[in-house]
Amino acid sequence: MLQVRSKSTSPASPEEGNSTAPVPAIADPVQPPNSSGLPTVSQSLFISETFSSRQGEGKLTGQESFFIRTSGCNLRCWFCDTPYASWQPTGQRQSIESLVQDAQAVFADKPASHRHVVLTGGEPLLGAAIEPLCHLFHQAGFHVTLETAGTIQRELPCDLLSLSPKLASSAPDAKQHPRWHQLHEQRRMPLNTMRYLIETAKDHQLKFVVSDRSQFDEIQSLVEQLEVHPSNVFIMPQGVSIDDLDAALPWLQPWTEQVGYHYCDRMQIRWYGNRRGT
Ligand code: SF4
Repeated sequence: MLQVRSKSTSPASPEEGNSTAPVPAIADPVQPPNSSGLPTVSQSLFISETFSSRQGEGKLTGQESFFIRTSGCNLRCWFCDTPYASWQPTGQRQSIESLVQDAQAVFADKPASHRHVVLTGGEPLLGAAIEPLCHLFHQAGFHVTLETAGTIQRELPCDLLSLSPKLASSAPDAKQHPRWHQLHEQRRMPLNTMRYLIETAKDHQLKFVVSDRSQFDEIQSLVEQLEVHPSNVFIMPQGVSIDDLDAALPWLQPWTEQVGYHYCDRMQIRWYGNRRGT
């Protein structure tokens, strides 16, 4: 595991969040390179945390990566395991150049082929500066994984789109959170946006967190509608402990294998427990 580095946090607004640091002026993202070799840009994103760890889910499980978690989300899943980036978004503004520089510092003594960055959230597609950030990472030679619920269309280079559509059972309680229940239902499943993101990414995977057999039909229907090959589908058990993961194995793994999907433990929970920065 690489060294873990986390940024400080502070309160923010419900969606993308408030700025707590001076926000650089927004400039044209396409400018001549400066002395660092990167184009001159001055855009920022609201960042919950950055850290170095191993990817715990999907095709690149085990890959050492630099994770950038944006703060803020346009959905409100009741089971969200990063509420500090959705229900109560906290963080700070950080320029996209400094995010690339932080990632470069982590991999300074590694071969270029080891440069992996994971853009996650919250919802990383919420802030427009995610587009120039992806371009900067590509220009710096990084493999870019984008972890998203797929509800916002963006033009960006992405090596692995890790798409986690939110199923009907993800909605927050209608009585406790009436406004967010309505918004969540309106926003969670824009199929054409998801198709576009899949088509424009170099590679893709679909990830579903499953808590109940009743979700099987919905998952299979969605995989067919998005025309995703079963070998690109990863099924994970819902849970925050090793006991939860173990309890799901007997009923979830057989179905997953029967329909040709991959069963995917959430290895970060087995490796590090359910804690931030992993
Ligand atoms: S989309 Fe992801 S970050 Fe947003 S509320 Fe749902 S689980 Fe949390």
